[in-house]
Amino acid sequence: MSYCSYVNNGKLNYYHKNYHDNIYGFPAKNDKELFGRLVLEINQAGLSWDIILKKEKTIKNAYKDYSFIQIAEFNECDIQRLLNDNGTIRMRRKIEAIIYNAKKVLSITEKHNSFKCYLDKHHSLTFSEWLSLFKKEFKFVGKEICREFLISTGYLKGAHKKSCSIYKKIIKEKPMWLCS
Ligand SMILES: [Zn+2]
Repeated sequence: MSYCSYVNNGKLNYYHKNYHDNIYGFPAKNDKELFGRLVLEINQAGLSWDIILKKEKTIKNAYKDYSFIQIAEFNECDIQRLLNDNGTIRMRRKIEAIIYNAKKVLSITEKHNSFKCYLDKHHSLTFSEWLSLFKKEFKFVGKEICREFLISTGYLKGAHKKSCSIYKKIIKEKPMWLCS
């Protein structure tokens, strides 16, 4: 059974329904939102997506609404704060990777105008090319994290089945995978 079928048949909770209907596969509107999607994917590694969706609000809050400018400045005190915050995923490796990636995204925005411009520029890459690019730029971006990030933000297709009502909604928002 696909994710779409599970959600559309009411087999998953509200958090999944909201994610499926309003976020998954929809192009992110701005750089903070894009970075936020990456933060969530990194946090998810080895855990269920359910845990991440339930903590989404508190994770967003702990990571300054996904302001990579602020996260790039995080120091050991911030790491300790996150490690003690029940609303987040308390794993040092993930936290440090997110801080490292925030610094990288910040330098990308300085060179390419925005994180979105940078990703848009690479929209025609194959998945394995995306993966090499991400591995070169970022930390903690394995195959699954990279793939899910790109699918969830509309750079790669495959978020929804063609028969899913959300598929048509997403087409109207012109995800980048449509352009290749
Ligand atoms: Zn769907």
